[in-house]
Amino acid sequence: MSGHPPVRSLWLQEALADNENKSEKEAPELGGEVRADVCVVGGGYTGLWTALRLKEIDPTLDVVLVEADVCGGGASGRNGGFVLSWWPKFQTLEKLCGTEEALRLAHASAGAVADIGKFCADNGIDAHYHHDGYLWAATNEAQVGSWRPLMDELDRHGVHPLVELSREVAARRSGSPVHLGGAFEATGAIVQPALLARGLRRVALERGVRVFERSPMTQLDRRTGSPRVRTPAGSVMASRVVVAMNAWAARFAEVRRRMVVVGSDIVATERAPDRLAAIGWTDGLSISDSRLLVHYYRTTDDGRVAFGKGGGALAFSRGVGARFEGESRRRDLVERAFRRTYPMLDDVRVTSSWTGPIDRTRTGLPFFWRLGGRPDVFVGVGYSGNGVGPSYLGGRILASLALGRNDEWARSGLVRSPAGRFPPEPFRFVGGHLVRGAIARKERAEDDGRRVDRLTKALVRLAPAGLVPLDQD
Ligand SMILES: Cc1cc2nc3c(=O)[nH]c(=O)nc-3n(C[C@H](O)[C@H](O)[C@H](O)COP(=O)(O)OP(=O)(O)OC[C@H]3O[C@@H](n4cnc5c(N)ncnc54)[C@H](O)[C@@H]3O)c2cc1C
Repeated sequence: MSGHPPVRSLWLQEALADNENKSEKEAPELGGEVRADVCVVGGGYTGLWTALRLKEIDPTLDVVLVEADVCGGGASGRNGGFVLSWWPKFQTLEKLCGTEEALRLAHASAGAVADIGKFCADNGIDAHYHHDGYLWAATNEAQVGSWRPLMDELDRHGVHPLVELSREVAARRSGSPVHLGGAFEATGAIVQPALLARGLRRVALERGVRVFERSPMTQLDRRTGSPRVRTPAGSVMASRVVVAMNAWAARFAEVRRRMVVVGSDIVATERAPDRLAAIGWTDGLSISDSRLLVHYYRTTDDGRVAFGKGGGALAFSRGVGARFEGESRRRDLVERAFRRTYPMLDDVRVTSSWTGPIDRTRTGLPFFWRLGGRPDVFVGVGYSGNGVGPSYLGGRILASLALGRNDEWARSGLVRSPAGRFPPEPFRFVGGHLVRGAIARKERAEDDGRRVDRLTKALVRLAPAGLVPLDQD
């Protein structure tokens, strides 16, 4: 990550202002040579939950965290704030890990949603956590029933985390008749994501994690002895290193072929609590439609709508560059999608937008693995746009791996050499644009009730998995 993003997400601006009001102290930059038991690279949820878990297991451990920007400066401070389980991805989990482990992980991911709320309550983190459920909705006829194969599969295992909603109920819950039905998962929650990230940072500091911000790792020296994390003005020699860099981990060749970095963009409206009350959308319900270039939306505590769209900029090779920072270049496109979904809010102004990178794997699930086959360097990446809740489990997995524990987390089905490779550059970049274009054509045709041609359908089948699993994996 080079320099500091010129424009912060609305979420992170609010959270940093809140830190300043409470006179929370700045973390220093790393200078000189430092030693640690574990060095965590990256101060988003994954890095912070890992550091917190390490301290929970052994408070005497010396844990150092280095962050290129400020904690929460990456995706954790700019996401949609949907705290979701892995139930919607159960079929892919089952393909990857088998039924028993998939059930265990999905139950654990639902537990994580509640645990995050409890952690916030116990530690005085006011992250605007609301546990009001998630609606996986249809906004055109082609999307109706997208959730049924999953619900049938879950039925076979006797678990029922999702309930199908009629058109009327989906429209009423979401506040817009554009919703033609959906599946409701009571587990879902929302947060103001940057307040969560900054809150975790505060608790990590209180528990003795040494946090260095504005300290980008420039090199991970893996050639001899203990790994060493180098930054512009210092270095950390650690027995173990945990790489929690999300999309920025694409700098490592072994990660790069296993994920594509795709932008996701959010617009937020002005405050309009009365208008939201008038359409009956006053709780913390999170909603997404059933597209691959997904639309996701929720309200905020101060009465705004935050409306996001996936499938934005594509990164070339190892670079997560300026196109993934600051204001959204797709603001108009995302705003149009918002207007179509909530035509009755037509006069509520969009006042800000931002963008960020998604670490998309073929399967849509993350992987946790030894980097370069070394026994002392671990990486966790690939949440594919569903990391707010699951990164809590990511922290457990990475902490167990770093400590060499032989527990349910270190043995988890997601600790694996990642499934599914993407083609090398430049084929991946060119192919990615072709596939994304085909998905956009298909989804436009479905919105208009038109047929989708065969070539477009064939290209769409090459896309990474969304909520619906891939046929070919
Ligand atoms: C616009 C958007 C909307 C999203 N919406 C949702 C949602 O609603 N629900 C959901 O579950 N998920 C969502 N996600 C995904 C979610 O935000 C991520 O999965 C989650 O934040 C991942 O946490 P992380 O700690 O792994 O990554 P990050 O928070 O990105 O943390 C990685 C950190 O590494 C740092 N870093 C990078 N390079 C270096 C370096 N060289 N040295 C040191 N540090 C470095 C970065 O600055 C960053 O802070 C969304 C993502 C985006 C971008």
